Amino acid sequence: MRIALTTDTPGFFADIADVLRVFWGEAQVLPADHPDAARADAALIHTHAERAGCWTEHCLWRADGHAHQRDDTMEAMEGPLVRKRFLKRAVKLCCYALMKDVTGLHPPWGALTGIRPTRLYYEQLDLGLTCAQAEHALSEIFDLAPDKAALLGEVVRSQQGLMTREEDAVDVYVGIPFCTTRCAYCSFSSGEIGDGRQVAPYLQALSTEIAAARALVAQAGLHVRAVYVGGGTPTALSHADLEGVMTALAEAFPAAKEWTVEAGRPDTLDADKLRMLRGYPVTRISINPQTMHDATLLRIGRAHTAAQTEDTYALARNVGFANINMDLICALPGEREEDFAQTLAWAARLAPQSLTVHTLALKRASKLRQSAYTPIDAAVVQRMVDMGHRAALAMGMRAYYLYRQKYMAGNLENVGYALPGLACRYNIDIMEETTSVLALGTGAISKRVFQADTRIERAPNVSDLGHYIARVDEMVARKRALWQLPAAGKGDSSR
Ligand code: SF4
Repeated sequence: MRIALTTDTPGFFADIADVLRVFWGEAQVLPADHPDAARADAALIHTHAERAGCWTEHCLWRADGHAHQRDDTMEAMEGPLVRKRFLKRAVKLCCYALMKDVTGLHPPWGALTGIRPTRLYYEQLDLGLTCAQAEHALSEIFDLAPDKAALLGEVVRSQQGLMTREEDAVDVYVGIPFCTTRCAYCSFSSGEIGDGRQVAPYLQALSTEIAAARALVAQAGLHVRAVYVGGGTPTALSHADLEGVMTALAEAFPAAKEWTVEAGRPDTLDADKLRMLRGYPVTRISINPQTMHDATLLRIGRAHTAAQTEDTYALARNVGFANINMDLICALPGEREEDFAQTLAWAARLAPQSLTVHTLALKRASKLRQSAYTPIDAAVVQRMVDMGHRAALAMGMRAYYLYRQKYMAGNLENVGYALPGLACRYNIDIMEETTSVLALGTGAISKRVFQADTRIERAPNVSDLGHYIARVDEMVARKRALWQLPAAGKGDSSR
């Protein structure tokens, strides 16, 4: 489907396109002056007018020789930031309401297209509303389905006492951009580890960043709350290489209380590697089957079996890991509801302490997006997501973080569940953006949260492995500039 979009608020073009994709999935949304727009299957024309302190949005939809239109009026808002925010909302809501009329669909997340819908819930609480009132308000404003509003409420209540705002707190993220094979749905810059030739120069550059981050933490007077080693698959590294990374991190950030290592692929773990990780202050690992169906695992390019997952859980328990997360994905290619139900039953037997239920996202850079894969019907995906929710509750868990992505099957969500007391604070920090992050490794994005004015500034690392290795000093300099520290070499005693 190709849609030609005209709007006299061009700054909101992408936001209107996001709303259109809620209803038209993979639609290509083109500006009306694009050479291919003349061959579009449909056209949306949006106009904005401001008169006597009111905004009026007019949306006109033309497709198949028919036209539908809608006008919405709301009181104009003053102040540059408030005005931009509420005008965007008005434009999106008008387009959303028209598309709902045209298609007869009621998307579960209503007009919400953002990554972090909990933010809107917190906004309602900040206005003095109770949880029940906040859920009602979100349903009224954004046409959110009641179960999604309730899910947001569950997440927000789980975060109470865990989501803090401290000016001097920081989390450390360390990315290991290697995997044994590439999953069909992967859109990360991680590559296959192959013959491992890139590992040594990468780890050398990473050790430079770890040392510089240690100095930065000391000089800026920060305290490290959590360390998260992700990727990629950190455990794709050899025993000795992973041990080297863990030693450097444990020496650099000895006061961190929460340590997570993504041990994503069961085929990258053995008893020795797990025992070695136990020797460090690792409080949580993630062993991710994604599905317990071997045929699906083969189809999505993962080089392990369900039996290996089961064996690895037993090994990790024997070694003493008492907080293991499991990632699963709804709507994997070829899977039906009964397949996902079997995976959930298997998950319940393995009894992880936390469960992350993802909905498949068909990202542009993934092999799956470029293949002939036919997406699973949105209603089926919704039922799978609901099954995941019920299974997590039956395991005694509660939802504690949630995010949405573009191109997700059924336009749904990813939800992290955990047993009481075992939620991962780093995941909350990342999703709610309430704590600064020093992010090390390729493509990692450091964030500094200025608590006084809830402003966030970012310093990204380059994603290309070769560029990262060659330019690691520049990555260090970007982080030091973010914390307004002098360049390394003048005040950084570690370099
Ligand atoms: S394990 Fe993660 S990073 Fe590695 S290929 Fe799969 S999706 Fe990509």
